Amino acid sequence: MTQAKPRFIFITGGVVSSLGKGLSAAALAAVLQKRGFKVRMRKLDPYLNVDPGTMSPYEHGEVYVTEDGGETDLDLGHYERFTGVDTRRSDNVTSGRIYKTIIDRERAGDYLGATVQVVPHVTGAIKEFIQADLSNEDFVLCEIGGIVGDIEGLPFVEAIRELGLDLGDERVCFMHLTLVPYIAAAKELKTKPTQRSVKELQSYGIQPDVLVCRSEHPLDDGMKRKIARFCSVRPSAVIPALDASSIYAVPRALHEQGLDQAILDHFGLDAPQPDLAAWDRIDTLLSSPDDEVRIAVVGKYTQFEDAYKSLVEALSHGGFANDAQVKIDWVDSELLTSPDVTAKRLASAAGILVPGGFGIRGCEGMIEAVRYARENKVPFFGICLGMQMAAIEVTRHLLGIDNAGSTEWGTQVTPVVGFMSEWEAQEGRQTRGSSGDLGGTMRLGAYSCSLLPGSLARQVYGEDDISERHRHRYEINMGYRQDWADKGVLISGESPDGRLPEIMEVEGHPWFIGAQFHPEYKSRPLEPHPLFASFVKASLKQSRLV
Ligand code: GLN
Repeated sequence: MTQAKPRFIFITGGVVSSLGKGLSAAALAAVLQKRGFKVRMRKLDPYLNVDPGTMSPYEHGEVYVTEDGGETDLDLGHYERFTGVDTRRSDNVTSGRIYKTIIDRERAGDYLGATVQVVPHVTGAIKEFIQADLSNEDFVLCEIGGIVGDIEGLPFVEAIRELGLDLGDERVCFMHLTLVPYIAAAKELKTKPTQRSVKELQSYGIQPDVLVCRSEHPLDDGMKRKIARFCSVRPSAVIPALDASSIYAVPRALHEQGLDQAILDHFGLDAPQPDLAAWDRIDTLLSSPDDEVRIAVVGKYTQFEDAYKSLVEALSHGGFANDAQVKIDWVDSELLTSPDVTAKRLASAAGILVPGGFGIRGCEGMIEAVRYARENKVPFFGICLGMQMAAIEVTRHLLGIDNAGSTEWGTQVTPVVGFMSEWEAQEGRQTRGSSGDLGGTMRLGAYSCSLLPGSLARQVYGEDDISERHRHRYEINMGYRQDWADKGVLISGESPDGRLPEIMEVEGHPWFIGAQFHPEYKSRPLEPHPLFASFVKASLKQSRLV
């Protein structure tokens, strides 16, 4: 059988950043899927970090982890949530990775004496990446980070221009996202920024085929024709994108404005109309939920929601599973300085979640939050660092080891959480030293976990063995397992070799689960993650008590 060749949709942005390129791309992919096509999504990031793994969540938002252990841009999370297709390490590349590949090749002598240059070597490596690791997809939607005209993004723009030439119109479509601002004083929408942005794109040799115009007000036909004429696109390919009631309304909104049709027209393809009922259901549920539940998220990046993007989404999916809306109360753990302050601050929470994180800052407050939840029987969910803090909390307050701590804070503690130097992976045994590189060296990606029969975790998942994605450098010390069990704290999930704890829970508590992995990465609006669905359910029950 001959392999069908994928078509590429390149998505660039202009005028300003934060127009929602990733979301528009993901929504378009979701609609194309519902029209029967197989899609894959990719992101090209112009910055020089090899991956976002070492970047602060304040700087770049959450690091999204793929099944195969890639530390990637948070847009890949949108991609997965909208398409249900697992992304891979190979779906996100940065300038840093491209340059690193090239410089390693150069040092190895692979260029045989040639002068290594941006064109053709860097652009060539980008083109290779875009076309690598694909399997019979109909469409590959490839988003270019930043906006057109950014100095660092130029090699990417040049690479996609060349691909447009190499593969031709029948396999490449250029979609450009712009802004049509409304000037309140003049009561007018302005098309000039869009025109300028398209001119800039044209100056790099790219003629957009489809324009998606973000705007706060509808564009009338005259306005669309004007943009079409000045930007040399068909009027039917000028797609207004107004602010939507929720992100889940975006697939329908873009479809109704004709985006997917414009793409199919470009390629000369025909396909049945999409059934978007599943997305509509979620949007309706969001606008008129049966119930509401308040969940406190106690962490240290609480002023910046993007740092917990997948978590926020997974909590709201947990709400969908229960016809409820989750209201997050962001609690800065550094402010929880004593049991009294903590009790006061968390009194109105129907559920308490301590998410992942790094470093020592804010940890004592997280431990206070765990203690409050455990002692007051408030549903508690600890994720990664949150589970580690739960292990420290029970060791301090149930076993009486006052200086129980994590070696991530230094060595002056009784190490209940310690540096993980060895573990089994599919590729074989992994070993790490504490003085090694920080980038890409954690226990990353999907690992299996066996669940304890009769445990809450086993009941929630409805399966004996599960697989979840990880991102951690420290592990909980299994040496305390029996002492904890004697106090009703169980390790209810462990690695298949029994060496690494994966889930802990507290007996006799309405809902207390710590997970060493990040279940939020795998939750999807159309398939809420069981742990989030169950945690929200328990919190709803609690909210009827508070
Ligand atoms: N800092 C902890 C570790 O590296 C937890 C990481 C996390 O929460 N993702 O193990």
